[in-house]
Amino acid sequence: MEQNGIYKVYIEDVSTFRMIMWRCRQSGCDEILSPIVARDPTGSSGSSKDDPRYCRKCQQTVTNPVASYYVTMLVCDMAKDKLTEYKLYSGAVETLIGCEVDELLEMIDDVPDLLELLRIALRGSLCDIFLRSEKKDEDVVSSIYLHGRNGLQMLFLKN
Ligand SMILES: [Zn+2]
Repeated sequence: MEQNGIYKVYIEDVSTFRMIMWRCRQSGCDEILSPIVARDPTGSSGSSKDDPRYCRKCQQTVTNPVASYYVTMLVCDMAKDKLTEYKLYSGAVETLIGCEVDELLEMIDDVPDLLELLRIALRGSLCDIFLRSEKKDEDVVSSIYLHGRNGLQMLFLKN
C-alpha cells in the first residue's frame, strides 16, 4: 500500500478488455454487476441495456444498470523501480482513454478490436498519478496526467 501523493510512472499494462462494467444505481447502491464484453462468442454485441443483471447488495435484478469504467493498471514507479497495480474508476479512466463510457460503447460497435488496441496504445505511456487510499488494501488512482496523448488520440491522430 502506497502513501497518498503524486507518482511518476510508466504504464506496463492496462486491463482494457473488461474495462466497461454495469453498475447498479438503485437508491444509492454502487455495486459492480458484470463486465460488458465488446464481442461475445454468440455474435451479439453484449452491450444491450435491457439485459437484466442481478445485484448481490440489493438482492434483486437491476433492470436499468448504467455503464461505468473500471480498470486495473500495472505501472512501474520510476523513483522506486518497482511494479505496482492500481485501480482506476470513471474520472481517471476518462482521462486515460479520452472519452466517456457511452461514447466508447458506441465506438466499439464500429471498431470491435478497440479495447485491445487501446491497451496496446497505452502500454509504455509515461504519466503522473495521484493516489487515494480508500480501503486498507486498495490503492485508487484518483486522477492521472498523461505526458503525451490519451488512448484515443494515440489511435486516431497521425504523427
Ligand atoms: Zn444494487
